[in-house]
Amino acid sequence: TQKPKPRTTPLTSAPVPTATPRRRVGLLGGTFDPIHYGHLRLAESLAAIFNFNELLFIPTYSPPHKDFDRVTSAYHRYAMTVLATLQMDIARVSMVEIFAPERPYTADTVATFRKSYGPDAHLFFMMGADSFVSLPKWERYETLLDSCHLIVMTRPKYEVGDLATLAERYGTRRVIDLRGGRASQQAVTSNLDAGMHVFLTDLFALDVSATDIRQAVSEGRSIARFVPPLVERYIHVYGLYSNGHHTR
Ligand code: ATP
Repeated sequence: TQKPKPRTTPLTSAPVPTATPRRRVGLLGGTFDPIHYGHLRLAESLAAIFNFNELLFIPTYSPPHKDFDRVTSAYHRYAMTVLATLQMDIARVSMVEIFAPERPYTADTVATFRKSYGPDAHLFFMMGADSFVSLPKWERYETLLDSCHLIVMTRPKYEVGDLATLAERYGTRRVIDLRGGRASQQAVTSNLDAGMHVFLTDLFALDVSATDIRQAVSEGRSIARFVPPLVERYIHVYGLYSNGHHTR
């Protein structure tokens, strides 16, 4: 019997080098007090449509416009965020805000990521429509709009008026409305030309907030529907949000 000839690849069929696609990084900043399925589904569904290479959850150091004294220690919030995202391949939890020497603004945080990912990366900062409405209260929000794309997700019970008009009022150069079934990988890619854009999305809507969850825990109601099992366990073991417990 004849030995099979070793396979050779003729030079002509060598793959033609193509330009490396620009990295796509999704950023989700939040108090995550605690992280819940609203955050997780939002991040997962946007990751699929926007084709993120990486997904960064960024627990805030001190939440803007919230009473700092009443926010749970950054360590607990960080730990719960890690537990909730450990199974997601592309997800990482960033410590950039919680260990910052001074309270950083979102614009500073995004500038830090811009530095490490370089000018070519597509950075997408994700937020719920409620956050988008309060954007003008954010320090240097214009810088933020100039340094990354925003993805705004509609949120149940938050009637926020006309998002597109709002985006234009903020001085956004391009508003890409992917609501009403227009969200697809193709629609995203074809709009990723020069400049930073605001993408409006309504992919999924889960009616849950961290406030509801803290309330449920303090009243002894189950939160199994709202948070992953390990987060529920963490809250229980460390006694977070239970009556009179000082969570800092
Ligand atoms: P709280 O009830 O304490 O204000 P929260 O549930 O709004 O908390 P945050 O950590 O403040 O949670 O939210 C981080 C980001 O995720 C914000 O931009 C917020 O708009 C968005 N977000 C939170 N929950 C949802 C949800 N159910 N649907 C869409 N976006 C959400």
